[in-house]
Amino acid sequence: MPLYDLIIVGAGPAGMTAAIYAARADLTVLMLDKLAPGGQLINTNEIQNYTGFDNINGAELAMKMFEHTQTYERITFDYRTVVAVRDKGPLLKEVVCEEDGAVFEGKTVLIATGTRHRVLDAPGEDRFSGNGISWCAVCDGEQMRGKDCVVVGGGNSAVEESLFLADIAKSLTIVTMLGLTADPMVCDRLRQKENVKIYVYQDVLGFEGETKLTGVRVRNNENDKDPRFGPADTVDEKLMGEHVIPCDGVFEFIGLIPTTEFCQDLGILDRGYVTVDAHMRTGVPGVFAAGDVIVKFLRQSITACSDGAIAGQEAAHYIQAHEI
Ligand SMILES: Cc1cc2nc3c(=O)[nH]c(=O)nc-3n(C[C@H](O)[C@H](O)[C@H](O)COP(=O)(O)OP(=O)(O)OC[C@H]3O[C@@H](n4cnc5c(N)ncnc54)[C@H](O)[C@@H]3O)c2cc1C
Repeated sequence: MPLYDLIIVGAGPAGMTAAIYAARADLTVLMLDKLAPGGQLINTNEIQNYTGFDNINGAELAMKMFEHTQTYERITFDYRTVVAVRDKGPLLKEVVCEEDGAVFEGKTVLIATGTRHRVLDAPGEDRFSGNGISWCAVCDGEQMRGKDCVVVGGGNSAVEESLFLADIAKSLTIVTMLGLTADPMVCDRLRQKENVKIYVYQDVLGFEGETKLTGVRVRNNENDKDPRFGPADTVDEKLMGEHVIPCDGVFEFIGLIPTTEFCQDLGILDRGYVTVDAHMRTGVPGVFAAGDVIVKFLRQSITACSDGAIAGQEAAHYIQAHEI
């Protein structure tokens, strides 16, 4: 079995960019993904903030990236689901796959498995996912210009993304399971927006519409709570009973889940995300991480590519330093 210079787990923007940089530094690269290469790009309709493209379909950009990787003979791609990464020493890592328990060996490993969005799992969600329901305001907010929009969630990302969306949409309604839990100053800024309504203590029951999303069905959840606590105290509006809030689009911000279950034993995680330094090095020598999976501020394609470039380059430096 070959010993690859670099094994990349995850062929999204971070993994694919790392592969290109590593191959150009003369490394042999095995890039593994459980799905088609492209990562979250594949589920993105329009990308309007990737430098050089004023508007490109996500799947098209993903294909361009993958085709770019395939111009290097040193990059091999394989469909595999990675279930474990084992550190066997400074220049030996094992990557274990679900399929037949196959084990690949690499001198270095890059973790670029991104995140997945927490979803509501409510009726209609599958039907309108990517077609009315979005998980990214920076990406899909522009489509809400002059339209009615609902945000689900009440934490920091929900409130911050709502501030952004409120300046685009005609109306914005936040529905949240509890009260707003974001930074109070940011919540107050949102409350001051004239086109914003905030309905707290709401459960989302489902999404309405035939071919196009037309509304969100919600129900006040205070009756479901322990009656000893009485009605919830809040400065925000309460919508009692069950209602359909008409809208053209919904954004769900109820949390992200980093895809790191397979590397839990390496001791490199902070609340599920991989901690890295500015060189994309984890605490395990020879194991790097890049893209949405790392602890970072802005999770976007362009920043994932940037992390990947650094990681690919650093893997080459690491091998050079250890092979002397
Ligand atoms: C709806 C939507 C719209 C977006 N719009 C934009 C936009 O307009 N502009 C922008 O810049 N960004 C946008 N983003 C964000 C952008 O897509 C991400 O920031 C970017 O894809 C992160 O790249 P990544 O390589 O870190 O991770 P990902 O793209 O998440 O790729 C991770 C890859 O790892 C694979 N993987 C996971 N676990 C395993 C495993 N165990 N074994 C093997 N493979 C595994 C996955 O299959 C996936 O292919 C959007 C995201 C979404 C969801």
